Amino acid sequence: MDLGIKGKRALVAASSKGLGRGCAMALAEAGVDLVLNARTAGPLEDTAAEIRDHFGVEVTAVAADIVSEEGRAEVLAAAGDVDILVTNAGGPPPGLWSDWERDDFIKALDGNMLTPIALMKTLLPGMIDRGWGRVVNITSGSVKAPIALLGLSNAARAGLTGYVAGTSRQVAQHGVNINNLLPGIHATDRAISLDQGVSKAQGISMEQAKANREATIPARRYGTAEEFGQTCAFLCSQQAGFIVGQNIVHDGGAINATL
Ligand code: NAP
Repeated sequence: MDLGIKGKRALVAASSKGLGRGCAMALAEAGVDLVLNARTAGPLEDTAAEIRDHFGVEVTAVAADIVSEEGRAEVLAAAGDVDILVTNAGGPPPGLWSDWERDDFIKALDGNMLTPIALMKTLLPGMIDRGWGRVVNITSGSVKAPIALLGLSNAARAGLTGYVAGTSRQVAQHGVNINNLLPGIHATDRAISLDQGVSKAQGISMEQAKANREATIPARRYGTAEEFGQTCAFLCSQQAGFIVGQNIVHDGGAINATL
């Protein structure tokens, strides 16, 4: 399907690996020029080179911490005016409700709520002026169905979700659509580290931890970064122009809910 966004320019934060990389790949396939970001230069340059080779789009790679003010400023300076923003950053560590202190919450809020909000605050005015824009925030299925061990993530992402619910409805009249994409479990480094946590906590092998988790998913498998990216690119398409302020779950049916 032609997504109608060839020649647009996108910033995809935290995109050298995993779900961010999947989104970058799918946007590049649709002909979108990219600004990519991650903290570690090596894998970021590798991803940028692979995308240039495969899709022939322009790719600017900025190695910086998107959660720090300086890092974000560097990324935004390189990005300039963008039509599409995909927000993303690493997720907070797992733990118990009784472990977390104020500083742990501040870190989680910085990474998974205030960073995407800061990126939107900077980039939305340009999109509004040009009368077209798309924002996709990578959040988590934990927004709809809490994952107890990821209480920091549940809390911070719920805050972002509330912000998007109102803001998306304020900017939609300008042709700017903001939506959230909620991953369930996907086969990325993050999933490996979550499985490692379960394997250690329950004294079982990694294979068993993965098999146990797969058994809880109606699709009986982990999602892939590629299919997540294709869904993200669709939300950035011309065809998705009437989708506003939604929370799209991408989880193989794992959240057991009618609506
Ligand atoms: P991943 O495979 O570990 O990839 C994370 C990517 O983000 C890497 O490119 C990493 O590169 C970059 N990154 C992390 N922190 C960054 C920062 N502060 N500044 C710039 N780049 C940063 O993770 P993922 O599975 O794609 O997950 C992406 C997001 O979705 C996370 O917030 C995660 O919690 C959430 N999520 C994932 C799943 C899942 O099953 N995978 C499920 C629910 C929610 P560097 O390390 O080099 O910076």
